[in-house]
Amino acid sequence: MRLTIDQARLTKELDALGSVSEAQPPVVTRVVFTEADVRGREFVKELCRETGLTIREDPVGNTFARWQGSDGDLALVGTGSHIDAIPNAGRFDGTVGVLGGLEAIRALQRAGYRPRRSIELVIFTSEEPTRFGIGCLGSRLLSGLLDPSASERLQDRDGISLNDARASAGFTGSLSAVALPSGYYSAFAELHIEQGPMLERLEAPLGVVTAIAAPASLKIQIDGEGGHAGAVLMPGRCDAFLAAADIALAVEAAALSTGSIDTVATVGVCEVFPGAVNSIPSRVRIEVDVRDIDQTRRDAVLKQIAEACEKTASQRKVRVHSELVNSDPPAQCAPAVVDAFVQACETHGVRFERMISRAYHDSLFMSRIAPTAMLFVPSRGGVSHRPDEYSSPEAIAQGVLVLAEALASLSS
Ligand SMILES: [Zn+2]
Repeated sequence: MRLTIDQARLTKELDALGSVSEAQPPVVTRVVFTEADVRGREFVKELCRETGLTIREDPVGNTFARWQGSDGDLALVGTGSHIDAIPNAGRFDGTVGVLGGLEAIRALQRAGYRPRRSIELVIFTSEEPTRFGIGCLGSRLLSGLLDPSASERLQDRDGISLNDARASAGFTGSLSAVALPSGYYSAFAELHIEQGPMLERLEAPLGVVTAIAAPASLKIQIDGEGGHAGAVLMPGRCDAFLAAADIALAVEAAALSTGSIDTVATVGVCEVFPGAVNSIPSRVRIEVDVRDIDQTRRDAVLKQIAEACEKTASQRKVRVHSELVNSDPPAQCAPAVVDAFVQACETHGVRFERMISRAYHDSLFMSRIAPTAMLFVPSRGGVSHRPDEYSSPEAIAQGVLVLAEALASLSS
């Protein structure tokens, strides 16, 4: 089989989809179920139809474009990503996996390949949490990890419900029909930009992802006692900010204590009340993000943070209330799909690095229901979620070539 990638066509299509935006190009803003999102979907679906793929859409708008295999009874091979974009984003996040996945299928068709298993290109709805506050909405529902009735209650900032928003984009029906039966996919392979600096630093053309880290996040409120910054003397103060500072340092210590470079923890939000220079903080809210590729290790860090909260409460005579906001399970990628990527790289003489994905993607949830792995293309300067996000056409074409080869081996 002689695979060739039409780099010029793919570049043109990425540019064209990038110009479907609520903002002035090169700025991409394409929030789920807005007019721009619907236009973006139409653009991709038209290309899929031209390629002879059969399109199906589910009630939340996940879109499946199928290249029928010779044995329709077998589980399918899936590939794809998302086309929604946060405000003020770039052209490549998600779209490389969608349009690149489509070009991989076209390359296989041009090479005269005929799959035994059907190959399905998936466009996931709302990978970005912009509108409904929850990331990977479509793939969470597909994997059955998100309760359909809980998601029916989601609302955006303007009070528009998920149900009304999806209906306005033409998607109706019960969300309980979204989940896929287990065994639907025999493999899922997602091509994506790295969104970080590792590949560029290592001068590696591609990254084969072996694990996907997942975040747990906490909201912690500390109530102490306020007072005049001059009149209340230091002994006997119950300063809520100092308690928060103790907890923040304990968060760092807990992450470091695992001894693994893959454990990270961040206090990214700190609100101090009343927030006046001459007033002792009476109340502080912090938000903590803990990530790892190993759930047991991440849970141990959460436990250490909980213990630090208790200790701080008694030492500093404050009340500490901690709430676990979310905790997604990290994923190990499936060896069979990782190997398909590795083999494909070797077949085409493309150097690669094995790496973990520190951001999460739809593949995190697909891994719950299908053997899954990801392939990363370098991001210039590690920059993403910005208009100057960039991956070179050559790098993307190489990723598509390896993806096509892997799809062939997984579907034959
Ligand atoms: Zn993405």
